[in-house]
Amino acid sequence: MAIETIFSKIIRREVPAQIVYEDELVTAFRDIHPQAPTHVLIVPNKVIPTAADVTAADEPLLGRMFTVAAQIARTEGIDADGYRLIVNCRDHGAQEVYHLHMHLLGGRKLGAMLARA
Ligand code: AMP
Repeated sequence: MAIETIFSKIIRREVPAQIVYEDELVTAFRDIHPQAPTHVLIVPNKVIPTAADVTAADEPLLGRMFTVAAQIARTEGIDADGYRLIVNCRDHGAQEVYHLHMHLLGGRKLGAMLARA
């Protein structure tokens, strides 16, 4: 059984968050430390700790995360200019919360994906 994080409490409404979307598979809410004018996290309702833990059975859920991202981008009015979707995985990916989530970032030019050394 995967260990729950603060995200499970948000999904169950035990901890407040600015929820922008929910359905039977995913919940989306605004990041508490936004890195762009729009910064929304799209989170499976069930706990999958990391992107390395997904299985073929999760494919409908993973597809839903993308279609919900596109829908929220339209609602936020950032779809025409574009945006970035990020999934951080484990230590080298700088993942902080071990409940799979997709960051939707937009509303300004985001620049290069990684700082170039
Ligand atoms: P990651 O590094 O991909 O695991 O990112 C985790 C994200 O969750 C960070 O951008 C945090 O700002 C965000 N976060 C952590 N706690 C909360 C919370 N209670 N409500 C909303 N966002 C949160």
